[in-house]
Amino acid sequence: MPPTPKYGPLAMNAPLSFDVIVVGGGHAGAEAASAAARKGAATALVTQQAMTIGAMSCNPAIGGLGKGHLVREIDALDGVMGRAIDRGGIQFRMLNRSKGPAVRGPRAQADRKLYAQAVKDILAELATLSVVEGTVEDLSLDPSGSVSGVVLQDGRTVTARAVVLTTGTFLRGVIHIGREQTPAGRVGEAPVIGLAKRLEEMKLPLGRLKTGTPPRLDGRTIDYRGLTRQPGDDVLVPFSTLTTAITTPQVDCHITSTTQAGHDLILANLDQAPVYSGQIEGVGPRYCPSIEDKVVRFAEKTGHQIFLEPEGLDDPTVYPNGISTSLPRDLQAAFLKTIPGLENAVILRPGYAIEYDFIDPRSLAPSLETRAIPGLFLAGQINGTTGYEEAAAQGLIAGVNAANRAGGSGALILDRSQAYIGVMIDDLVTRGANEPYRMFTSRAEYRLSLRVDNADRRLTAIGLAWGCVSATRGRVFEAQQAALDQGRSVLEQARMSPSQLLKRGVPVNQDGVIRSAFDLLRYGLTTRAQLESIWPDVAGIASQEFEKLEIEAHYHGYLDRQEADIRAFHRDESLSLPADLAYEAIGSLSTELKTKLSAARPATLGAASRIPGITPAALTALLRHVRRADAA
Ligand code: FAD
Repeated sequence: MPPTPKYGPLAMNAPLSFDVIVVGGGHAGAEAASAAARKGAATALVTQQAMTIGAMSCNPAIGGLGKGHLVREIDALDGVMGRAIDRGGIQFRMLNRSKGPAVRGPRAQADRKLYAQAVKDILAELATLSVVEGTVEDLSLDPSGSVSGVVLQDGRTVTARAVVLTTGTFLRGVIHIGREQTPAGRVGEAPVIGLAKRLEEMKLPLGRLKTGTPPRLDGRTIDYRGLTRQPGDDVLVPFSTLTTAITTPQVDCHITSTTQAGHDLILANLDQAPVYSGQIEGVGPRYCPSIEDKVVRFAEKTGHQIFLEPEGLDDPTVYPNGISTSLPRDLQAAFLKTIPGLENAVILRPGYAIEYDFIDPRSLAPSLETRAIPGLFLAGQINGTTGYEEAAAQGLIAGVNAANRAGGSGALILDRSQAYIGVMIDDLVTRGANEPYRMFTSRAEYRLSLRVDNADRRLTAIGLAWGCVSATRGRVFEAQQAALDQGRSVLEQARMSPSQLLKRGVPVNQDGVIRSAFDLLRYGLTTRAQLESIWPDVAGIASQEFEKLEIEAHYHGYLDRQEADIRAFHRDESLSLPADLAYEAIGSLSTELKTKLSAARPATLGAASRIPGITPAALTALLRHVRRADAA
């Protein structure tokens, strides 16, 4: 039995001093609090309602293309998300299975309640974490301008050496359903106004974004006859290295589609759609558009797929993935009637759009600490991202670095060659977010090296060195790496001449070159069964390790080339730029580039090169300026 969670309002006599305070119990907040506590920091997770910790505001699913990579990386650093979805997942699928292993994406449909409970249970295991129910209204600063704590709605100040804000969609959140506008952070939850005003007064650069969610349906009123059944995988692959088997019952999803009649209905009523009537100003996610957006932008399409996803094992609610909307309630109902299978579907909760404040992430260092207020870290939707996985990955880094700051040590920064987490944070702090940012495999230039299968190998040792990985995971990691090394050595030592291989049915060039079993896997010349029949020792390699070695062999040649690119990348990354560099003093830069560089304050020359619009000539001028300043 997991220990009883320490939830509730802060008792009047409770200690009001911590090393780290995390504000918000969403996906970023849960990871931040867990990471700081795993490092041994006395951590308070202050959130409006403890029961909503781990709540999924939108779709009941974790992972997917690019996002699945983030979850595997979070898990490699001993985070919460992978373990939680393994406990709460009710349909596991590996997306892109037919494509190369580098771009496959593990995804799991979640039982909302089981997932949120798993997050709470995992947090409850942390001895130095206290969960406090309350709303943070203000930040307190010390005389030097560094953050020194937070002020709760009841006026009490809780002190800490570092604070992580993970306020999601709550800062001045406004929900839109047709012409109805309701201040809220999420449906049924109060928005956060006081803190947003204070952040504005503190001159943090705020902007406005928007996202949306579809109506929720009563699954008992859906006619599934005639719809396409979508089952999960036969072999369930867990997200977490620590999970030995998925034991939650598995369910099917179904697929239907919008129709031209539905599109016509929306087009005829666009003046009632807040995204088109001018009522919503915030920019929405381009890659996760509302059905209104899809109908307008892809006018030539006569149908858009809808995945009908169950929200839980003992919950009739169905999430129709693909028709996020903020149309008026009656139009939402009329639109559903045009969709096969949903003609009589009852809406349990209407879809809505939400507008909220975010902070321009170019105001952050790559550690996710704000440059303006030392000790203040930001993670999740507040940084202009969208998605649970993006939020969680930032939360983990911010939590580790908040604990590092409280303990007086340096910052954990993963670069673009090490992790998708590094790609995302670099994108955010150098380019900002002029629309909600979500992860894709195409954002990672070194994606052959950044695979889901090698996330542990890339990151767990780093996590151990930074103290955010438990001894238990450390032992599992070492055992798995030893098994992998042993398996590789078996495959490399199993060698034969071309003529011997041909005699055993392996079609290789008769060029006299001795080949190993690893080489044969590399060129896809054989199967595991064939290898075992030639070299019986191969049978001793566990299937999990064999699959990893097969992928390693497949990418062997490409990885050598990618290594050269990564070395070149590191050369530019090693040229640090001073945090207080006076860009306006560099005469040869245009005013536009000076403004861009001053806003992003890139940490390295490499980061400067990734700011949109920065030319090779500008980089040369920058380098010359820094060298001249160093020599002076
Ligand atoms: P959240 O999960 O929002 O958590 C924020 C937490 O902070 C809450 O617990 C809140 O109570 C708490 N909090 C806030 N302010 C304070 C304060 N001052 N004091 C104490 N506690 C505070 N993602 C997608 O990928 N695709 C989508 O289509 C999509 N649609 C969405 C639609 C809607 C309507 C919403 C609300 C979200 C949607 N998302 C979508 C986004 C996804 O839910 C978020 O990206 C993710 O939940 C962000 O995690 P977070 O931890 O940053 O914030």
